[in-house]
Amino acid sequence: MNKGKLIIISAPSGCGKSTIIGDIMDRGELDLQFSVSATNRKPRPGEIDGVSYHFLTDQQFKDLIAEGAFVEYEQVYPGRYYGTLRSEIQNRVNEGHNVILDIDVKGGVNVKKLFGSDAMSIFIAPPSIPELRNRLKGRGSDTDEEIEQRVGRAEYELTFQPEYDHVVVNDTLAEAIGRVESLMADFIGK
Ligand code: ADP
Ligand code: 5GP
Repeated sequence: MNKGKLIIISAPSGCGKSTIIGDIMDRGELDLQFSVSATNRKPRPGEIDGVSYHFLTDQQFKDLIAEGAFVEYEQVYPGRYYGTLRSEIQNRVNEGHNVILDIDVKGGVNVKKLFGSDAMSIFIAPPSIPELRNRLKGRGSDTDEEIEQRVGRAEYELTFQPEYDHVVVNDTLAEAIGRVESLMADFIGK
């Protein structure tokens, strides 16, 4: 049986990554399974342990680092760690399933280096910084201060675009979804 492949999706917060991945997975045209990351941050309302993330204590996260359980992990925000567990990837890929990873820019670049041609990396970019700010405001989940923090971090994250296999600008949502889905379909050979 052929092994599955990895699809890495990274984007600054508010660029539409969750909307795009959610739409493609809901339609179910492609064989894709989501890699549930581990984090030591607290769950937000509506998030489910084991589905959104594996929510861990600081100590549990440290123990897993010591055990070598992570393919990669990053401190994405001060004191907040996120990591991809080997157990989320290995069996699925060996069974021939393709796995989607929603991870930050540094993690994305690292996983691509580790997996080479078995992984494809896609960066989802905003049409512009002012439009990104509008969308974050429209989402209504962050304070003005948090929005400015996210925009500041987005400007830094955008500098990683050249390290990705593909960049998709999320201007018109339907077009961005179509482009991401067709890149995925070409890559996994469907
Ligand atoms: P992320 O997961 O990257 O943080 P979201 O998927 O939550 O981003 O999208 C941020 C906000 O922008 C949401 O309110 C979403 O509905 C909206 N949005 C996403 N794509 C577009 C688009 N192409 N045009 C307008 N609004 C969009
Ligand atoms: P949030 O707290 O908003 O869910 O996620 C914050 C950031 O952490 C996002 O950029 C997300 O892509 C990233 N992230 C989530 N899981 C992982 C992971 O396993 N590894 C890395 N490096 N980043 C992750």
